[in-house]
Amino acid sequence: MLSGSASIDHTNAYFRHGGSHIINRLSSSYRFALLQTDAGARLGELHTPHGVVHTPAFMPVGTQGTVKGALFKDVEEAGAEIVLGNTYHLFLRPGDELIARRGGLHRFTGWGRPILTDSGGFQVFSLAERRTITEEGAEFQSHLDGSRHQLTPERTVDIQARLGSDIAMVFDECLAYPATRDEAAESMRRSVRWAGRCRQRLERLRAGATEVLLANPGQAQFGIVQGGVHADLRRESAESTRAIGFEGYAIGGLSVGEPIDLMYQTVAETTRHLPADQPRYLMGAGTPEDLVECVSRGIDMFDCVLPTRNARNGQLFTSQGRLNIRNARFAEDDDPVDPACGCYTCRRHSRAYLRHLHMAGEMSAAALNTLHNLTFYLDTMKRIREAIAFGAFDTFRQEFLRSVSRLSQDS
Ligand SMILES: [Zn+2]
Repeated sequence: MLSGSASIDHTNAYFRHGGSHIINRLSSSYRFALLQTDAGARLGELHTPHGVVHTPAFMPVGTQGTVKGALFKDVEEAGAEIVLGNTYHLFLRPGDELIARRGGLHRFTGWGRPILTDSGGFQVFSLAERRTITEEGAEFQSHLDGSRHQLTPERTVDIQARLGSDIAMVFDECLAYPATRDEAAESMRRSVRWAGRCRQRLERLRAGATEVLLANPGQAQFGIVQGGVHADLRRESAESTRAIGFEGYAIGGLSVGEPIDLMYQTVAETTRHLPADQPRYLMGAGTPEDLVECVSRGIDMFDCVLPTRNARNGQLFTSQGRLNIRNARFAEDDDPVDPACGCYTCRRHSRAYLRHLHMAGEMSAAALNTLHNLTFYLDTMKRIREAIAFGAFDTFRQEFLRSVSRLSQDS
């Protein structure tokens, strides 16, 4: 059993690099405590300026300052303790400076619990022909109006500082899959150089040495490990990123089309090189099965658009697998979506009614489906945490995987 505080580690690392006292103030609000481990899985608590996140945790994606198809009261009721905000989208609209003038993202959106912001890298790299990457950063054309912008590592730190998220991510290069080993190595090393620039910039902000104010002085910063599906590159990236020193570490560049077994293997090979007493976040994954499998490989945090996006398309996740509510066989099915679920949708409505709403294109279909899918994901995380606490994670994992595969052919 391990118990540790990442901020203390970080402070030590900082003094080794000859820093000032200012940075120590972070340790008062941000802290990660690893409470228990079981069969590779980790139970922890992430303390942030806006509250505690119990890990392993799932973060619903709130792209534009809102979780698509859900009101924040429903997101809270579903059990979310933290949501993710997208820097790229908020930077373009309504703009980070406008949000800073409103007191930061928490006050602007009315979401009072913790927020993690990505750096915008993933969205910019997804723009394909509309972006150019240099050592300095990325130049791109907005998907909204074609206007030209530049994002550098320093700029993404400033934007996230104005947004005032509790956890900010470094700017990294997101490589497409498949890539050659040389491409993956070159890209990973650039990401490490960018991570160093992000850290330097944040330290200047924390020291009050710039005109940019931190809307949330307790904001933590996570580094991102890249390196494709190559174990040696992942190791090099993990070691170089740790040497810079962050409050947590993410695994990027996975869940981008690689075979699932290769993803699980890469996660296991990467977490082995990450510090045990700091949080690990697997970016952009995944299915309910992926969450359970990657928890068993030492992951603490996840985000994914699947529960919300699939809800809008009528695909529902249940304890027996996935079902597509458009399917004609639900037309006169009076059962709830998932008899094992206690969400508002399942307590109140039948599959027949939800199918009718979806076929009629009613907005309430998206809202009810989203509430259910989010509840299923967040309940799964809760059950994972309970299983770890009881030392029964491996039994839970085997039963869960058997159970969710039952209906999956219907999706
Ligand atoms: Zn439900």
